[in-house]
Amino acid sequence: MTRLHFDPQQNYDCLMCGRGCRAGWDIPVEPEVVANLEKRPLVLRIIQEQGPVFRQVEDATFIQNSKDCPNCRLLAEDQLCSIHRELGFEAKPATCKLFPFVMTQTPEGIFVGTTYYCTATRQNHGRNTSVHEADLRVQLEHGAPINKVAADGLVIHNRYYISYRDYLGLEKELLTRAEALGLREALAQATLGLACVMAELPLLEDGVEAIGKKLPEMWSHPAMPPGSAGRQLRSLGDLQLCDYFKFSLERGKWDEVEAALYDGTPFALPHYSWRGTLAELNALADERFDADIDRYLNHLVWRKALVVHPPLLPSLLQMTMLPQFLKVHAGLLAHKRGHSVCHQDYWDALEEAETYLVTHGRNRRVINELAVEVMLNMLRG
Ligand code: SF4
Repeated sequence: MTRLHFDPQQNYDCLMCGRGCRAGWDIPVEPEVVANLEKRPLVLRIIQEQGPVFRQVEDATFIQNSKDCPNCRLLAEDQLCSIHRELGFEAKPATCKLFPFVMTQTPEGIFVGTTYYCTATRQNHGRNTSVHEADLRVQLEHGAPINKVAADGLVIHNRYYISYRDYLGLEKELLTRAEALGLREALAQATLGLACVMAELPLLEDGVEAIGKKLPEMWSHPAMPPGSAGRQLRSLGDLQLCDYFKFSLERGKWDEVEAALYDGTPFALPHYSWRGTLAELNALADERFDADIDRYLNHLVWRKALVVHPPLLPSLLQMTMLPQFLKVHAGLLAHKRGHSVCHQDYWDALEEAETYLVTHGRNRRVINELAVEVMLNMLRG
């Protein structure tokens, strides 16, 4: 029987808040689920009252969101799923049945994590996730969606790759360093060290090359600048912040944001009713969320998020930059809402990070790979 691993630090019992059903995601629906639902009075009633329940995109069917908001059309007013209530759990699409669990198949077994988009997960509410093992095994038997990490061929950057076993060595050293230095500095060291290894390798136009044997060099690479790796990567963090927030602006305003990165001029983020310099943007970060952010980062590393979506180097860089992104974004939301920063602002920032950058990420590749190129060019001199 496949071994299921559960994070000993992660709890979850549903709070029935319906938050995950108001995210506006594309929820795929299997053909047999569509066939079953289409003939049910519940669905016919919703179609009559609100319009289509499904949306067809080429060969795939998705749940249709409500007309003027991102809510799932099948979410009832009391924030409960109307399929679950009227037709039972088994009638739901596989993605909905699995939420908020995120399962990753590895050569060591399946790592069962949870998305921090879920309120109960964020609050670490309830019993340890392992109490859900029996239900998850049933879902696995019925083809629950699952990420897959192969034993070999984990891309680092360009055409260089390592094996899963090599990755485990890297992860072990990362966690050992985290005990002494904190996870953030350990992540920064891993990012910078791996980038030093990559910067001295030629760009491969054809073929692929394994570099697992070089990984131990990364932790004490001669090109590694002295001092805190986190501070060394600070300018890349600024680049990522600017890249992320400039997407909320019209294209014509992007130059203004980029100028602020290089010469410290003020720029505006009208979406947040904010104007200031990059230093003032960074000063919005509040340290009171550090413990929550560490729990989140630890869970991401535990559930193998670094290798679920290779390449590994951009994923490491992104995880290194996440704390500042979350804190600044929480500060911007508080500014927009006209109050001092509070946990709700941090949770809203975390939801956005989960939606666009991490677990359900859509923009991550562009932003992170751009920053990796800048980092490698800096190291190549
Ligand atoms: S977001 Fe989490 S806690 Fe809220 S209803 Fe969904 S699974 Fe339950």
